[in-house]
Amino acid sequence: MDSIQHSKPPTCPPTDETASPRGFRICRSPSSIANDGLRNTTTCNTTMSDVKCPCGSGLPLKRCCGPFLDGTAYPDSAETLMRSRFTAFTRGNLPYLRKTWDPNTCPELTPDDLQTQWTRLEVLRSTQAADKAIVEFRAWYRDNGTEQAMHEISLFKLHKKRWVYVAPLQG
Ligand SMILES: [Zn+2]
Repeated sequence: MDSIQHSKPPTCPPTDETASPRGFRICRSPSSIANDGLRNTTTCNTTMSDVKCPCGSGLPLKRCCGPFLDGTAYPDSAETLMRSRFTAFTRGNLPYLRKTWDPNTCPELTPDDLQTQWTRLEVLRSTQAADKAIVEFRAWYRDNGTEQAMHEISLFKLHKKRWVYVAPLQG
């Protein structure tokens, strides 16, 4: 499938965006757009009861980020929120990403922001105070057949008593 040529331009953020990645938004090359749809077909035969959570916890999705994504629970720590947001990116859950983003920094998200083929997450460091938290992570994605990592130190804060993602401190 990688050999399919695609003429669409890269789905870059608008030009007024800063150069550093916000959230997980990555500008993709045209060739990786050809992989669209693969992600959905690889998981459609697996029921939610036995699929492992994409966040890397080792737990089944339904006992990990699943309840957060379907709205029946909300993460009680910034790291759990961060993990669930990674899972939301892998599953294309835009409403959850909006809900867990600080309204003051949340960009206008479109399905184009979900084109990146995320593969796995490594949480490197997590520090939480009363109303602020920092989570450092490496998020791996596949681009042109090779796995690459995005490193970010993210700021989270309590907003209306719920943890939300604010912005990267360092790309
Ligand atoms: Zn999870």
